[in-house]
Amino acid sequence: MPSLSSSQELLIDLDALVGNWQLLRATAPDADCAAVVKANAYGLGAAAVTRALQQAGCRSFFVATAAEALALADVVSAESRIYIFNGLRSTEVDDCRAQGFIPILSTLDQAECWWQANRRDQRILACGIQVDTGMNRLGLELREWDLLRKRYGAADLGASLIMSHLACSEEQNNPLNALQLKRFLDIVAAARSWAPGIEASFANSGGVMLGADYHFDQVRPGIALYGGNPETRRPNRFSSVVHLRLPILQLRRVGADGSVGYGALTPVKSGAMLATVQGGYADGLLISQSGQGFGEVAGIRVPMVGRISMDLTVFDVSAVPDAVWENQDRYIEVLNRNLTIDEMAAAAKTISYEVLTRLGQRFGRRYHSEAATSNYDESEYEH
Ligand SMILES: *Cc1c(COP(=O)(O)O)cnc(C)c1O
Repeated sequence: MPSLSSSQELLIDLDALVGNWQLLRATAPDADCAAVVKANAYGLGAAAVTRALQQAGCRSFFVATAAEALALADVVSAESRIYIFNGLRSTEVDDCRAQGFIPILSTLDQAECWWQANRRDQRILACGIQVDTGMNRLGLELREWDLLRKRYGAADLGASLIMSHLACSEEQNNPLNALQLKRFLDIVAAARSWAPGIEASFANSGGVMLGADYHFDQVRPGIALYGGNPETRRPNRFSSVVHLRLPILQLRRVGADGSVGYGALTPVKSGAMLATVQGGYADGLLISQSGQGFGEVAGIRVPMVGRISMDLTVFDVSAVPDAVWENQDRYIEVLNRNLTIDEMAAAAKTISYEVLTRLGQRFGRRYHSEAATSNYDESEYEH
């Protein structure tokens, strides 16, 4: 399929993605290293990401919703498993059972529903169980967890995974980590006497970096796969996966002192060189980074100026020598190895997760892999 977006392009480096997964796996060598591909693999394209990780040996994939699981049904191989974090609505049960997805149950109602379906079908299908250990977001309360084990035999329920989620894993020294771990150890001990052989999973990306105590049988990183830093106080050990460059629509030498953009909020001096690129908040360039963010031209950092518009962003490129414009395609990079998703997030007063998941649908996603180029012919472009 021909592409018109050759210069406005979101390039996703699948080799870096696989390298990040391998680093996580090596950090938790005794655990199954799953991949969290919810929210369309944090905006990068769940099908292409899942294919690449599966080819590298990953066999466990987590999504948030049943619809996301269905979208991956034809992508995963027969040996791979798809887990659904948000469990199941009663209307989704039949579809999910037909596909063999593993729902993570977080309420007694969901457990009852799954148990009934197992009985009705005379077929026990696997489920996971989430217990809350201190985040107060999703998962059984401890007293509900006790009730669940009294009410149901583990075999009748199909309980195959017990999990919980850390609230502060990216902060090495936060005391809530150790407290949640202590609670989870008790939960796992109870789970194993109820369901011998049940697997336990606790660690997201930050949890993997907290050490072996946090790894259990399965780790389930997301953000580190995509190049985000899971340790706020340490340099990032993971490689950039996302590269975004935006075409320059107009270069302007400012004729008289004035201002840039809506609201006339940012003064600009006569003689300054401005570049207006295609790409704005409708593409996920968060407006809150107006006047804070940076781009790069031929390795030179250039600041964003004025308020980001829906489809346009202006940079002050006065620092770029004229000769540079003669030698290259006219574009500005906004995400690359030097301009990280964490830096863009800090400029926008948000987190790398939001930067990634907002990256807009107008950008063609192009997948690059030296290692397995031939496998991506069909899916090279995904919109
Ligand atoms: C999103 C999510 C993960 C992955 O978290 P990262 O911080 O991106 O590694 C793991 N577990 C649960 C329950 C999640 O919701």
